Amino acid sequence: MLDTTPFLLPTDFPPIQRGKLETLQVNLGYLCNQQCNHCHVNAGPKRTELMDRETIDQVLALLSEKKVANLDLTGGAPELNPLFRYLVREAVGRGVRVMDRCNLTVLEEPDQKGLAEFLAAQGVEVVASLPCYLKENVDRQRGKGVYESSIAALQRLNRLGYGQPGSGLLLSLVYNPQGADLPPAQQALEVDYKRQLWEEHGICFNNLLTITNMPISRFGSVLLSRGEFEPYMQLLKDSYREDNLATVMCRSLVSVDWRGYLYDCDFNQMLNMPLGLQSNGRTHVSDLIRAELEGQAITIGEHCYGCTAGNGSSCGGALSI
Ligand code: SF4
Ligand code: SF4
Repeated sequence: MLDTTPFLLPTDFPPIQRGKLETLQVNLGYLCNQQCNHCHVNAGPKRTELMDRETIDQVLALLSEKKVANLDLTGGAPELNPLFRYLVREAVGRGVRVMDRCNLTVLEEPDQKGLAEFLAAQGVEVVASLPCYLKENVDRQRGKGVYESSIAALQRLNRLGYGQPGSGLLLSLVYNPQGADLPPAQQALEVDYKRQLWEEHGICFNNLLTITNMPISRFGSVLLSRGEFEPYMQLLKDSYREDNLATVMCRSLVSVDWRGYLYDCDFNQMLNMPLGLQSNGRTHVSDLIRAELEGQAITIGEHCYGCTAGNGSSCGGALSI
């Protein structure tokens, strides 16, 4: 795989600082039942990295100590970590809002029976990848059969109340472009998604989140191999919008890797660009209990233009609508 890291530093991206910590985004490991070509964590069925019990307990201690409002679970497929249900139960018990970044197909895996019911019982918000409402596009990006399995999973979630008015069970879908383009306007695309999924499959959901592809990891490698890296970086820079700088997700989120080390965001985690709290080394989740992040400088690179381009991009979708 080709590495874009050497092209991301130095950068002329404006310096940014942290605000109040609101979300802990925890990567439970790189194991995944899929192997998508845009995956920025290079997850797949053969990866063995998984967060262990000691680190999960440190995450729980931090949630309590710092009164962090949100726990955002990612992977890989986070549900494939054997301690997933333990972590969710304990976090919900502490009054934390839990989000599961779910690839949908995991809900249809034979060894994951009862997973959707568990998520509903715990009131977990499901944030699910569905990069298009058309079968050909989803299967091309995420693998053969992924569309049908995703539709079955969405119907299962709807039957449990997800996405249904008044149920309190939130279901958001995530769109990312097929290639080296910026996402279209989030609201207009949401209308199309809702109409198409309802008419074709009787599926409903709450929100569509549009996310810009980052020029790193597997997608970055594809860009380099096709000679599209420089034009894509230029597109991100030409589309820079200063308004988005105030709400980039790293201001209020900390990303935790499967070993418990901290980063300003998931992308920095993949680039191995640690959170700059300790000048002499890496900061661990157990260190954060005693530390204060507000006002600290955020570690930036050229990829940060992916967050500020056009309507902006974050784990919660577009920044300006
Ligand atoms: S489902 Fe998500 S984590 Fe798994 S390979 Fe695809 S993009 Fe990566
Ligand atoms: S890439 Fe990460 S550090 Fe850079 S602006 Fe986006 S969220 Fe912040």
